[in-house]
Amino acid sequence: MERCLRTSLERVQDMLLETQADVENIASSISISNSFQNTSPEQCSKRLSSLKALYTSIEHLSILTPQAIVYCSSIAGVGGIEVKSTGKMFKSVHNNYTYWGEPQVSPISRTLVIPSATAIRNDLHVDYLVLASLKAETILNKALNLFDVTLTEAAIISAEGGIAVSKLLSPGRSVMEDDFVRRSVNGFFDVRQEVLGGEPHYVGVLKLPMNGSRFLFLSSLKAANDRAWSQLKGAVLTSVIETVMLAAIIMFLAEFFFIRNLRRIGALAGEISAGKPGQRISVRSPIADFNRLTSALNLMVDTLEDTSRQDALTGIANRRALDSHLGECDQRLAEGKGPMAVAMDIDNFKLFNDRYGHAAGDRTLQSVGQTLRRFGKRQGEMAARYGGEEFTLVISESDPDLFRAHLEAFRRSIEDLNIPHPDSPHGRVTVSIGYAMAQPGTTMQQAIERADEALYRSKDSGRNRTSGELHFGQYAI
Ligand code: GH3
Ligand code: MG
Ligand code: MG
Repeated sequence: MERCLRTSLERVQDMLLETQADVENIASSISISNSFQNTSPEQCSKRLSSLKALYTSIEHLSILTPQAIVYCSSIAGVGGIEVKSTGKMFKSVHNNYTYWGEPQVSPISRTLVIPSATAIRNDLHVDYLVLASLKAETILNKALNLFDVTLTEAAIISAEGGIAVSKLLSPGRSVMEDDFVRRSVNGFFDVRQEVLGGEPHYVGVLKLPMNGSRFLFLSSLKAANDRAWSQLKGAVLTSVIETVMLAAIIMFLAEFFFIRNLRRIGALAGEISAGKPGQRISVRSPIADFNRLTSALNLMVDTLEDTSRQDALTGIANRRALDSHLGECDQRLAEGKGPMAVAMDIDNFKLFNDRYGHAAGDRTLQSVGQTLRRFGKRQGEMAARYGGEEFTLVISESDPDLFRAHLEAFRRSIEDLNIPHPDSPHGRVTVSIGYAMAQPGTTMQQAIERADEALYRSKDSGRNRTSGELHFGQYAI
């Protein structure tokens, strides 16, 4: 704080020196120019007024006769006024420098100014006197703008110890008591702590370079502490708000990219375990691991769905897949020509198992299943293991001749597997086949039942054969 006050005072001092030099340059430029004193008072006033307009700190520029009468001025209508307070100023008549007076009310501008006077000579005679007055309040304001520290009060005091101009910069009453002001008259460049008005203050005293006046700057320690405390509170509040907002953003991002996806993955897992296949999730997350996880889960659901619809031994559709496929076929039945249902059963399979064992029986079931697969792979067809050594085929062929040829080809394919079966009258593994066509107004399940009945006719008539009925429209074939 003390250091800041000191630096600010240095800046004020520089500003004052610059202002002083400006004024003295103006005065000397007027003195060497003939364009002011050798013209009419009106012309001279005009010129002074344009010159003055270049300097904000200057209240007025005036040229006085040796009898202290205003010849011309940047302020209009003051020509002829006698300036009585110029006694000291005329001292400069005998010197080569600009004389600066103490702050006073200017008889020309009627405002508080810091006046300066410079003599314009012709040999030893004084021709004119240039008065250039600084506006005291403007100078004080300029100084205040140069402070880093927050001030509570400021003033310009004259060499005699009176307050020329003062400013209260914070709420409350002035603490610049007479005694303090008088004591400050001796300071040149002081920064100190002092108790004023019962409270500790920082005091800055600076002598003006041009005269015996001083600047006084006060800063209350309590006000500074109060300010620091409220700034701290503000900073704490801001950081609390920032933290809460940051947490909210993090929670939002976590929800958006992470938790939401986890919830969807959890929901999918729940649906799978509740036996609701058919659901897939698509998670598009910037987190690559999430995308991998959902792809793996979708793949797992695919696999689960496939295995739940597949017969483990033969690899063809199982009863569950067949049932749902029959449901789909029922919907197509309304179109008129229903799909064909074919039921088939391996002949004398018990005896085969008995002779060759269960494992050989399983291998035979696999061979029959794989062969059947080839005969039901068009759109809407299905080869399924119905149970045990019984199979079902759903076929969409509507041409009776092609259909029969198709089934005959299958039956022969099983024969051609040439799996020996000495206990069968045919000497090898064979199948008996029954078929039926689903009719509009009936169901596929009923067609399968009729195909099953036809299958038993094949069994009864010697096995390894195909029986059934086809109905297209009202004709039986
Ligand atoms: P039919 O010609 O009248 O159909 O006589 P079958 O002996 O084939 O008929 P049955 O119903 O008497 O016997 C079926 C046999 O199929 C009995 C059972 O051991 C066998 N079987 C059923 N499922 C499997 C299986 O998964 N593996 C094996 N190895 N045998 C099976
Ligand atoms: Mg059977
Ligand atoms: Mg059988």
